[in-house]
Amino acid sequence: MASRRRAAEDKNTKLLRELAALPANKQCFDCLQRGPTYINVTIGSFVCTTCSGILRGLTPPHRVKSISMTTFTPEEIEYLKSRGNEYCKYVWLGTFDTSTNSIESEVSDDQRKRDFMVQKYEKKRWYVDPDIAVKKMQSDKQRQGVAQSQSFGTRSNSVIETQPLSRLLGKSPTALIVQNNQAAETWPHPVSSASAPSISTKTAAQNHGSRSIDLLSEFGGDASTPSTQASAHFCSFCKIN
Ligand SMILES: [Zn+2]
Repeated sequence: MASRRRAAEDKNTKLLRELAALPANKQCFDCLQRGPTYINVTIGSFVCTTCSGILRGLTPPHRVKSISMTTFTPEEIEYLKSRGNEYCKYVWLGTFDTSTNSIESEVSDDQRKRDFMVQKYEKKRWYVDPDIAVKKMQSDKQRQGVAQSQSFGTRSNSVIETQPLSRLLGKSPTALIVQNNQAAETWPHPVSSASAPSISTKTAAQNHGSRSIDLLSEFGGDASTPSTQASAHFCSFCKIN
């Protein structure tokens, strides 16, 4: 049970790291300082240490958690996945006009930071209803997506992945016909040999077999271990005994 809980925590930590790596989450939502160390679990934003202290002192106080010192529940991770700094910008700074104001000048010292956060959270001065905010965010993203696909569109034809399979597999694609019922499971091996078309499916399979034994020695496996059992363990993907 303990190890299962540990695995779940590791998964949460990994997800959290991925969320923290998103561009919008790499700076404090409230003061733009780089490298947030806390999460505002009340609204789902990434913030710096100073702002986490200010958030705790607001009315009502926001709940903050240290990224590295705290474990997060799966529910909190799910909540964070659906929020994050970009979402929060559309909701809590939805009507903040960046053409006439700059956040940098609003948060130039700790007192101004606090005043700005009181305006933002207590007075809800720039707050936009989440339903409307999300629609705006999605339409902005769509517009950015269209602009991106237009700028990249001319290059897509030369991408190597779009080549026909027969060309990628070399001159003897018939060697790929696998006679037994493990066709689907052995499929990756012929593909991996595509860079060397002279190797037939049979030799590729043999190479694979010998390679799995090499792997065993690389893993420092015990020579006295029955090889069939060990290869079944290490090569469960293709199930070759
Ligand atoms: Zn901050």
